[in-house]
Amino acid sequence: QHDGAGRLITRSNFETLLTPRPRNSHKGLYGDVGIVGGASGMVGAAWIAGRAALALGAGRVFVGCLAADAPALDPSAVELMMRRADEVPSLASVLAVGPGLGQHEPARALLKRCLAFAGPLVLDADALNLIGTDPDLETLLLARPHDTLMTPHPAEAARLLQSTTAAIQADRVATAKALARRYRAHVALKGCGTVVAHPDGAWAINTSGNPGMAVAGMGDALTGFAASLLAQQWPAPMALEAAVHLHGAAADALVANGVGPVGLRASEVIDAARRIRNAW
Ligand code: AMP
Ligand code: MG
Repeated sequence: QHDGAGRLITRSNFETLLTPRPRNSHKGLYGDVGIVGGASGMVGAAWIAGRAALALGAGRVFVGCLAADAPALDPSAVELMMRRADEVPSLASVLAVGPGLGQHEPARALLKRCLAFAGPLVLDADALNLIGTDPDLETLLLARPHDTLMTPHPAEAARLLQSTTAAIQADRVATAKALARRYRAHVALKGCGTVVAHPDGAWAINTSGNPGMAVAGMGDALTGFAASLLAQQWPAPMALEAAVHLHGAAADALVANGVGPVGLRASEVIDAARRIRNAW
């Protein structure tokens, strides 16, 4: 049924990328992540993605929230540089769009501009929901000459494929592969046993992670992780697979220490992922 065997995602897949930082490092070596999202009431989603990008080592992180009432500063990560949402693409070497974006017209217009971004792009959450319901956006996505990563949960995947969540869950590998082929993108179909599929037909399954992650904010952290590794020049397939693996491994480490599954928070997973990345 599935042409080509899948792999398991393990740390050893990334061995060659885990080189120590040169002593004469400067932040310019580690890339500029831009996060676009954060409509009113959802500012935290964009902040979480930004914090996650910092935690995995991006050189600079810019966050653009759509909400007019977005605070000027994230008190838990004052290193995040807040900019107007429409300004962020011009500041970024890697762009992530979707966390808390919303689906109103300003969000759609902003996403349209982001799809023209001349570099690696991560699409999540409402960016995927908008693309799933707007053929014009889909056309722009298909025209992209740069790497695109997509991180749908099953309901978002169902919208993209005009299918149902039940049908998606009945064959998760086929779904991830179909999305990767259709959009020529690197796709993580999230959930218990995240499936990562690539445009060339290769695919892999992640075994880290646990039900403590079933809470709002977790997906936003994954988006920031993937953008961070892309900004540090990781090839797109490895950036997505490593982000998925670290995300789950961080949650597993917390649960092993009694932090969760009940009450586990995305902010905690971000801090734990940083520890694991530094121990890798
Ligand atoms: P989102 O639905 O966008 O907030 O994303 C949730 C994140 O948590 C994804 O990365 C999922 O893979 C992960 N997740 C949620 N529930 C589970 C679970 N039961 N087992 C493993 N990972 C999970
Ligand atoms: Mg999400």
